[in-house]
Amino acid sequence: MLQLDSNIEYLKGVGPQRADILKTELGIFTCRDLLLHFPFRYIDRTRFHRAKDVQQEGEQVQLRGVLRRLDTLGEGRTKRLVGTLRDESGAMELVWFQSVLWLERTLSVGKEYIVFGRVNEFNGRFNITHPEMEEANPDNTQKARTFDPVYPSTEKLTLKGLDARGLRRLVRQLLDLLPEEALPETLPDYLTGRYKLIGRREALYKIHFPETQSELDQATRRLKFEELFLLQLRLLQLRERRKIASKGFVFEKIGDCFNVFYKEKLPFQLTNAQKRVLKEIRNDVLTGKHMNRLVQGDVGSGKTVVALMTMLMALDNGFQACLMAPTEILARQHYEGLTALTADMEVNVGFLSGTIKGKKRNALLQGLENGSIHIVIGTHALIEDWVVFQNLGITIIDEQHRFGVEQRAKLWRKNPVAPPHVLVMTATPIPRTLAMTLYGDLEVSVIDELPPGRKPITTTHKNEHHRLRVQGFMREEIAKGRQIYVVYPMIEETEKVDLQNLMAGYEALSRDFPLPDYQISIVHGKIKPADKDFEMQRFVNRETQIMVATTVIEVGVNVPNASVMIVENAERFGLSQLHQLRGRVGRGAEQSYCILMTGFKLSAEGRERIQTMCQTNDGFIIAEADLRLRGPGNMEGTRQSGMLRFLLADLARDGQIVAAARDIAADILEKDPYLEMPQHERLRHYMEAHKKETGLWSRIS
Ligand code: ADP
Ligand code: MG
Repeated sequence: MLQLDSNIEYLKGVGPQRADILKTELGIFTCRDLLLHFPFRYIDRTRFHRAKDVQQEGEQVQLRGVLRRLDTLGEGRTKRLVGTLRDESGAMELVWFQSVLWLERTLSVGKEYIVFGRVNEFNGRFNITHPEMEEANPDNTQKARTFDPVYPSTEKLTLKGLDARGLRRLVRQLLDLLPEEALPETLPDYLTGRYKLIGRREALYKIHFPETQSELDQATRRLKFEELFLLQLRLLQLRERRKIASKGFVFEKIGDCFNVFYKEKLPFQLTNAQKRVLKEIRNDVLTGKHMNRLVQGDVGSGKTVVALMTMLMALDNGFQACLMAPTEILARQHYEGLTALTADMEVNVGFLSGTIKGKKRNALLQGLENGSIHIVIGTHALIEDWVVFQNLGITIIDEQHRFGVEQRAKLWRKNPVAPPHVLVMTATPIPRTLAMTLYGDLEVSVIDELPPGRKPITTTHKNEHHRLRVQGFMREEIAKGRQIYVVYPMIEETEKVDLQNLMAGYEALSRDFPLPDYQISIVHGKIKPADKDFEMQRFVNRETQIMVATTVIEVGVNVPNASVMIVENAERFGLSQLHQLRGRVGRGAEQSYCILMTGFKLSAEGRERIQTMCQTNDGFIIAEADLRLRGPGNMEGTRQSGMLRFLLADLARDGQIVAAARDIAADILEKDPYLEMPQHERLRHYMEAHKKETGLWSRIS
């Protein structure tokens, strides 16, 4: 008996040879694989077009009419067979360049045919080249026809008779031969009933062989829902299980550190979003479970102060805290910022990076071990084994490092009693639906509000014609005491052309902005880290006015006096990258500008990216646009993520289904965390059968 797991070789009509090709060309090993090899489009054969109405090149049409003429025209390579099909509305020309002799013999003038193919325009007239021809008979003209599925196929498959039509035959065969029990329902009846979803078996049948558009829509909707729902159910279940399994420290008290800071030191009012996120964190650290939370917030949304106040919660309860940044410069900026904010408080802040050596390092390590240092800020040096804490309660990671298993384990071992809480802060906004999937097993907080009084950055699009005016503008801004970034693309840091481009730009700038009036810094991937830091520091100290750089400056650097961001070859950057770059300015009180320089010719997508940037400063809107334009697999931070591979669902378009699936899954798990109720038996079976697919998802950040 054929089963889903049966080797595809045993399906009637396949055999060893075709099975080999199905495996190598399409990755189809089993009957299940074939069943899930969904059509990528359908040919609408449910209606006949009228010859007169065919006006659009590229359209697929089905006509019914009588073949009026059939002539061989041309010689040699231009030899072709030309026919005329006439229906009651008019005529359509049919053209064949191949198999002319054979077609001449099999087609008969005067007979009625059903003709199917793609419309071409040639010399102002429409024709169909290489149409499929089928003699009309009462059966195929009167009975409702179907949507024919078209499957991805390859030349090798076609040679073995597995073109679209051959695959169609195999799939139908399979569906007919599979026993009923092979395709059991997964969803509870009350769900399919409430959301008007068709059954699983029916949906799998109809996704291959719909008879109407509405059947196809129903099948698609059902299968997308199932796919997204089962994933959400699994992610949420995983999250709950982990919470139950991993004990975490309780930060019960709100004490002096927090209160003094909040009431006396905090130089501004928290935004509502900041307050909400702090509450969410506070709730987590009260539960006695380990916190693993992601805080998303656009550049400038004020994540640092949230981080600080979270660390103060730890301090009030006798714990130490650490804050880790991806680069030395960023870590230093945090260190300086946080020492200033906590001045005159009884909070001792330390700094550690690879460059801190000798006595300084020893003193710091000692302070961490004996507990006299309360907060330590640094680079990934913090996770090294030789860094020992007296009582680390929380680790905050700025800008989303992706840690390997090894590093994660080290982080967790920093306190032998229980793993310290983890808070990851990222400035790369991710659309909600994507976050639900990508971080479905983490708690996610969003700071979706900027502090009041920010002047929105003005973004404009310019090209070479405007070069002189842009330079004039740069001079004006520098004369006002401002600083300017000029960023060049360097997609691969090894790319020679990009480096030449950058150097040429630097030299041109050096001519136009000569010494000694102007000082220019340059930073790129070929420069040694120490020199890079030195140049960055010169810019931070206002010793240079222009910073020419590649995207190395993308992450987090804060130079409030820099008010202009010029992006060269802006069309080569992705949306979220442009947004990150723009976020480097607009940090001070001055009006800031972002100038996107592009070539004259832009692709449609490139143009849309630039327009989006000029229209909005909202990182979440930009992330949505990015998702729409590039698809989920190519967005920042989502690459190599196997979990975005769906059979049918498309996170860019199915956001509503994702959100619904998430809510329904959460609801079910709240009532029945272990899926023990009889109505959830199918779900429990499914989850148990697919347990091993979850390993990927237990991770930090
Ligand atoms: P990011 O989220 O990009 O890390 P920061 O934490 O660096 O943002 O904050 C950006 C700037 O906004 C800082 O100068 C910070 O002091 C200021 N800031 C943060 N929160 C507020 C607030 N609620 N009101 C006013 N200014 C704020
Ligand atoms: Mg920051």
